[in-house]
Amino acid sequence: MNKGQVFIISGPSGSGKDTLLVELFKACPELKFSISSITRDMREGEVEGAKYNFISQDAFKKMIVENELLEYNCYVGNYYGTPKAPVEKAVNDGFDIIIEVDVNGAAQIREKLKNAISIFIMPPSFAELERRLVGRGTEAKELIEKRMKSALGEIKRANEYDYIVVNGEIDTAVQDIISIIRSCKLNFKNQKNIIDEVLEKC
Ligand code: 5GP
Repeated sequence: MNKGQVFIISGPSGSGKDTLLVELFKACPELKFSISSITRDMREGEVEGAKYNFISQDAFKKMIVENELLEYNCYVGNYYGTPKAPVEKAVNDGFDIIIEVDVNGAAQIREKLKNAISIFIMPPSFAELERRLVGRGTEAKELIEKRMKSALGEIKRANEYDYIVVNGEIDTAVQDIISIIRSCKLNFKNQKNIIDEVLEKC
């Protein structure tokens, strides 16, 4: 069996990543999603264990000490981390997995998983990003400013990624991500079994 592929997806807060991912998983239900452990408060509408496991700072620090995280970062005052075991299991079981992390987390994963493919979700403009952040109404003004500042830093690091998908029109952006995934699956490195199978029978 071929191993699964890791896809890293990043994009600033307000880039529309979450909506994009919901649509991606509707279109590709066979994809796995890496559930992060985080220490920020749960927002209205969020469900424990769906996208995040909401844990205490102490529990998070214990995960760091016990080397249970593939990567982690402190973002706007809270810890966010990717548990290692579920990612390893998905890949070993042959499933492709999406890991949504910030730019620092993405850099850490690239260091450890050399064949991970990374995709940066770009807002169509900085003004549109601000409009979306203010429009969703989940953060106070001061937090929005912090997220805008962080977004600027993240956009400046978009050149570290293999692909950039502009999230202007949602359907187009989802199709762009599906195209990246398909093209990666067609790469010969991911089809070594097929070569062996065909050669075995000749
Ligand atoms: P939010 O608080 O808006 O849900 O997420 C804030 C930022 O944290 C986003 O850029 C998101 O991509 C990132 N993030 C989510 N999960 C993780 C994670 O496990 N590790 C890291 N490093 N960043 C994460």
